[in-house]
Amino acid sequence: MYAGIDIGGTTVGVAILGESDEVLFYEKIDTDRSYDPEKIELDICRAVERGLFVLGRDKIESIGIGVPGIVSKNRDRVIACTNLDWKDIAFGRILAEKFGSNVSLYNDASSAGYGEFKLGAMKHSPNSVLMTLGTGLGGGIIRDSHIYEGANGAASELGHMTVGDNFYTCGCGRVGCLETFASGTALVKYTNKVFMEQNQSFRVGSAREVFDLCTQGDEIGVQAVDRFTRYLAIGIVNVIATIDPEKIVLGGGLSLSGDIYLEKLKEYVMEWRYFKEIPPPVIELSRLGEKAGVLGAALLGRDAISS
Ligand SMILES: [Zn+2]
Repeated sequence: MYAGIDIGGTTVGVAILGESDEVLFYEKIDTDRSYDPEKIELDICRAVERGLFVLGRDKIESIGIGVPGIVSKNRDRVIACTNLDWKDIAFGRILAEKFGSNVSLYNDASSAGYGEFKLGAMKHSPNSVLMTLGTGLGGGIIRDSHIYEGANGAASELGHMTVGDNFYTCGCGRVGCLETFASGTALVKYTNKVFMEQNQSFRVGSAREVFDLCTQGDEIGVQAVDRFTRYLAIGIVNVIATIDPEKIVLGGGLSLSGDIYLEKLKEYVMEWRYFKEIPPPVIELSRLGEKAGVLGAALLGRDAISS
């Protein structure tokens, strides 16, 4: 058996998989609000213990952990993790000692990409890209069947490619990042900006509300979703120009509303992509949803001990 962990700013996903990649145990726990690494690791320990108890087992061969940041080459340190305010911290030692397992760290979006590649929408697509659309925009690149991490583990930060000027600053401190145009935060901020400019008192609090306005035919909702879709297409065209993948999969919470914008997105991509002589990548929605990260981390952790 092997475990996968997906650490997010709000929740931590914990899964235990069997020898045929079947999910035997899955639990979501709250992320400790102090973001104290030791507290978070102890919470994970308890969740894994609960899983082992439920399954009547006591051994975990490997534990793969996805974190929202970059990790060291030997996969035992988090180099930087903006959302959790972590800088150069060792992570996983408590888990390794407690369960006698091999513990390894990965970027969370790369883990999710690997999950979709092994078990989900990117299966049989050895050169493919997952774009996760949530509060921000993340990317997981699969190149020749492996996660592509770049020279320093910082590749696939697709949300921070610069695509134009924007009216607010990205969490990374720069202006014009893709995720300030194509993410849940971007949709809410833009929609409320337009309401304000038109002296309307109505405000939205979530991307879901913007999508609802759009499907109801509200002019501002339609405009906001179209802007989101156009910029997402620009991001995808840039990814195609750089990587030439055979498939691009959209994951994250906003992919649940994919039926509202997917066809228009494909039209923009078809129109704007470069070499029209070659087939365009297939663009489709995630199959694993929020479990992609935890499953991918488990599979990467298992691969680390079998390679
Ligand atoms: Zn940025």
